[in-house]
Amino acid sequence: MIVEQIWTANAGRNFNYLIACAETGEALAIDPLDHEKCLAAAKANGWTITQILNTHEHRDHTGGNQQMVAATGAKLMAHANAKAQMPGRDRGRRAGDVIRIGKTVELECLDTPGHTMSHICVRAHGDEAALFCGDTLFNAGAGNCHNGGHPNELYNTFAGQLAKLPDETRIYPGHDYIARNLAFTLDREPDNEAAKAMLPGIEKQDPSKALITTLKLEKEVNTFFRLTSPSVIKRLREAFPGLPDSPDQKTVFLKLRELRNSW
Ligand SMILES: [Zn+2]
Ligand SMILES: [Zn+2]
Repeated sequence: MIVEQIWTANAGRNFNYLIACAETGEALAIDPLDHEKCLAAAKANGWTITQILNTHEHRDHTGGNQQMVAATGAKLMAHANAKAQMPGRDRGRRAGDVIRIGKTVELECLDTPGHTMSHICVRAHGDEAALFCGDTLFNAGAGNCHNGGHPNELYNTFAGQLAKLPDETRIYPGHDYIARNLAFTLDREPDNEAAKAMLPGIEKQDPSKALITTLKLEKEVNTFFRLTSPSVIKRLREAFPGLPDSPDQKTVFLKLRELRNSW
């Protein structure tokens, strides 16, 4: 499996992806908003884009579909429930479905509601464990829920699916929000040494050569995975004095999501 992360350099700080089979050169494009950059990258590598996956229905993920289909004839896939919002979708995908790319790549579809209610993440298993997570999980952060999502569902997705993936899973999100997210982690957990050590380097990083994190690292620096941290809870009780001494993880997640909305 060859992964190319494409930095769009747009105002939304979107990442697009090409995933290719090393043997056949067939490629899947994920959320190819910047269709020109995606097509140029495929051409430079000698790849043929045969499939497109939209992680969800937001325009900053679907906006390049038409041009990509026109240029490649690729089949367009998205969440099985997203048909109404996605003109031109060829195939609906559900949890457990497998997307095959060429001869060597298999990706499993996960149904991951929360950011929207029709959101798909795809994962690669084994030695090349990876998660392409759209706007559900960001480096050091979580997607918002105010354009068709629900924080309760986002918590269930994090706790019930994402947190259980193997630690070595490489994380490929839909946007570059890492610097701001690390700053939020430090606002919520000022003694998070891993986040503190990371932030200066990240503030200087060139997003076209972005750090690819692992789930293990996310569990250290992403406040939405740190729901039992005593300092996260202590700081949260300062903001919400009505919280009990030991709030349950869901409550902590929902309060963090709420604070992040206006931070
Ligand atoms: Zn979105
Ligand atoms: Zn987005």
